[in-house]
This record gives sequence, C-alpha cells and structure tokens, in this order.
Amino acid sequence: MALLRSKLRLSIASSAPLWQRGFATSKTLSKSAVVTGSGQGIGKAIALRLARDGFDICVNDLEVNSSMVNNVVAEIQSLGRKAIPVFADVTRLPQVEAMVEASVEGLGPLDVIVANAGIAQVQWGMDAQESDLQRLFEVNFYGVLYSDQVAARQFIKQGSGGKIINAASIVSFRPFLMLPIYSATKAAVRSLTQSLAMELAKDKITVNAYAPGVVDSHMWDTIDEGMGHINGRPKGQNFKDTVNSITLGRTSVPEDVAKMVSFLASADSDYVTGQTMMADGGMVFS
Ligand code: NAD
Repeated sequence: MALLRSKLRLSIASSAPLWQRGFATSKTLSKSAVVTGSGQGIGKAIALRLARDGFDICVNDLEVNSSMVNNVVAEIQSLGRKAIPVFADVTRLPQVEAMVEASVEGLGPLDVIVANAGIAQVQWGMDAQESDLQRLFEVNFYGVLYSDQVAARQFIKQGSGGKIINAASIVSFRPFLMLPIYSATKAAVRSLTQSLAMELAKDKITVNAYAPGVVDSHMWDTIDEGMGHINGRPKGQNFKDTVNSITLGRTSVPEDVAKMVSFLASADSDYVTGQTMMADGGMVFS
C-alpha cells in the first residue's frame, strides 16, 4: 500500500510541469509529518494540530517519556489519523535516521519535519561549563541539524520537495537574561534555517523556524524555578512577571505556537523560506 502510494505520488509529481508541481503538502493525498519532542508541550500541540490539518504523525520523544508519547499517539488516532510512536534521542544521528525510516515505513512518504525537541538551562554566562555548552548545543542545535539533514535526504529521495520547520525562539533575536547559552543555541538555529533555506531551495524544500515567546510548558516550569534560585522570587513569579513585557497582555499556550506551525506546514507557506517567525504576543519587534 505504502509502495503504491509512493508510486502514485511520484507519478503525480513527474507528470505535471515543474512550476505546477508545488510541494508535497499541496497535494490532496494523505500527508505525513515527524514532530520531535512531541510527548508534551509545544511539540504535542503541534502534533495534534497537524493531525487535525490532515497529517499522519510520527510522534517522537525520549523513551523515558513513553507513556506521554503513547497518549499523544492515542489522541491522534482518536481524531481518525494514523500515528506511530518513535523513541529516539535527536542528538544521535543514527537514531534520527532510524526515526525517519520508521516514519516512512509506517506512514508513507514524508512531507514535513518539525524539529521541535529542545532543552533550556538557567545560568549566568560566566558560570557556564563545557558540559552545559555540550548538552544545550547537542539537543538544541545538533538535534535540529540532524533532523533537518535526515529529512532533507528523504525529501530528495522522494523527489517532490518538503518542508522543514525548526524550533527557534524570540531569544534567537534578543537574548533573555540568565539564559545566555540557550539563547546562543537558538540564534544558531535561526542562522542554520537561513543557510539550509538557500542550500535546499533547488530541491523544492522550504526551511523555516518558529519563534515562541513565553509558553506555559514544562520548559518554562524549569526556567521559572532556575530563575527563582538566582533572584529569590517565589515559584511561578518569574513566569508571571514576563506579562509586563507582552503587548497582548498574556503569556501563551502551546496551541498559540501550533497555529503558526500549521501555516508553515501548509501549502499556504509555499513561497516562504528562510524565515524565523515570532509568535510571542508582541514581546520582540524586529
Ligand atoms: P518541553 O520541555 O515542554 O518539551 C520538550 C520535549 O522535548 C520534552 O518532551 C523532551 O523530553 C523532548 N526532548 C528533549 N531532549 C530530547 C532529545 N534529545 N531527543 C528527543 N526529544 C527530546 O518544551 P517546550 O516548551 O514544549 O519547547 C519545545 C520547543 O520550543 C523547544 O525547542 C524550546 O526551546 C522551544 N521554545 C519554547 C519556549 C517556551 O516558552 N516554552 C519558548 C521559545 C522556544
């Protein structure tokens, strides 16, 4: 069936003139997406939103989060879409390769990858150790690069283009106090997104990134707690204080970000590439 679908797609792709072909996501056939780090938070909201948009989803996270991943898979299946769990650490290239292979095997040709997995660490730049740099860059930058590389190779093999969507942040544009290395990893993701957009355009692959502001998730619980250790504010206070610098007057929820990723994964964004788009309620104006 998967082979048949793949042949069908290839024949559709090759029978139309190049300018009419569009991206894989422009077609009405079923589409598939890999979303890394989608056991919870923003990744989970993206996985569910893309499922509602008609994508079958490869739900990835670390094995330690298997029960969360299995719940997301079940929720997507209850929406009438296919979903498979794939436990892989995005910092390990062979695991990323196995993840994309499993996705194609289980869900058919790949249309979109959302390189969402990320971690944060609160600290002063002057205190950062080699192990901190290694951990943050390995997940937030190497993990994104490996996901992009492996997905792009798959898109090129399929011959009908594809969409790469990376997790950046508003700190890609303006660093946050007490998040110096995290901010640097996200600036690197923004730069990589621009470079790969230029490199992969000839293969009909677009590369964009989303830049959330302050999103209520497990990550911000960790950030709030870490900042509290440094500035003595009680639990939850650092998170609440961010509202003072948000134009729309509220912090965000993962679904706010998923809406923008839905656009970046859709045919409506076919003429958009190399962009890091903010969904921050108006925190950073650039
Ligand atoms: P989260 O901590 O709630 O979820 C991240 C998920 O990624 C977790 O389930 C975690 O297990 C997974 N993950 C971590 N390392 C992994 C690895 N090596 N391999 C596979 N999975 C791994 O975080 P979130 O708030 O949902 O953030 C998602 C993305 O959005 C991150 O890249 C983050 O940097 C970015 N972001 C978040 C915010 C925010 O305010 N929460 C703001 C800007 C950007």
